[in-house]
Amino acid sequence: MARHTVPASWKTGMIEVGPKVFTYVQATGETGISNSGLIVGREACVAVDALMVPSMTRKLVAAIKKTTRRPIAQLVNTHHHLDHTGGNTFFKGAAIIATEKCREELRPGFPPVPLLQRFMPAFAAEFPKLRVVLPTVTFQDRMVIHDGEREIQLWHPGTAAHTSGDAAVFLPKERVLFAGDLGFHYVTPLAFQGHVGHWIKAADRLLQFDADVIVPGHGPVGTKTDLRHLRDYLALVRRESKKRFDAGMPAEAAARDIKLGVFASWREAERILPNVMRCYQEFEDQLDQPMDIPGMLAGMEKLRGRASAHTCL
Ligand SMILES: [Zn+2]
Repeated sequence: MARHTVPASWKTGMIEVGPKVFTYVQATGETGISNSGLIVGREACVAVDALMVPSMTRKLVAAIKKTTRRPIAQLVNTHHHLDHTGGNTFFKGAAIIATEKCREELRPGFPPVPLLQRFMPAFAAEFPKLRVVLPTVTFQDRMVIHDGEREIQLWHPGTAAHTSGDAAVFLPKERVLFAGDLGFHYVTPLAFQGHVGHWIKAADRLLQFDADVIVPGHGPVGTKTDLRHLRDYLALVRRESKKRFDAGMPAEAAARDIKLGVFASWREAERILPNVMRCYQEFEDQLDQPMDIPGMLAGMEKLRGRASAHTCL
């Protein structure tokens, strides 16, 4: 585990990360607070992810309008999670591109409003307003958007990782990689719908991309060094979970027992619980089973040291 300093904070706003390539970063990356991308082309633009609730996406759209007058022709959804697709409705007229699996996951709709309100109470008032807008263009493993000399490569790891339908967006000439939620920088990754073992492999493959700049789904813009920390976190959690699984320790006890070291100061460290629970499902070969979400939320609240005053769903 590489030692590293965890940034105390970072700013919300549009940052240029390559020639006419931008990211809109949201501080400070906790649940529901994700990043977005903007690639300004000759006549039109490609956006990467739409954020979650209207108050967020409105600010993103305003920041895009300040950056360029060109319309958004395509919006890429890096995966189905609400904090990346909730704002799709703001991109009318754009083709929405995602993996086939992402579209399949999104098709039944967003999770029930009371569950979202419990999971992310800060945005409770806005959840009833959300409407699902499905991707209109899908791909399996690879897709390339060509715009003059510019190439925008869309890449799916071929297995589940953070979710079943993850996609990363890579600009080989500009050496910029939008990792979606395959990348978390200094915010604890959340694998409750993922496969930790395969996510480690996906991170290893992303680390082989010729990228100087990596934009994570959550957290500040970084480089391969930052993505490597994410990979190390996942490897540590999986390795330590396996020891405790083999010793017959229940997942919740394992989540309390594992020493996270420097990762304990990453935001939302209590996500250790769903990550361990998911590792246990992987070891039991039961990843096709959905996780016990209310149980997971209750356990995370306990780990956060917060007495749970919420009613069970
Ligand atoms: Zn996600």
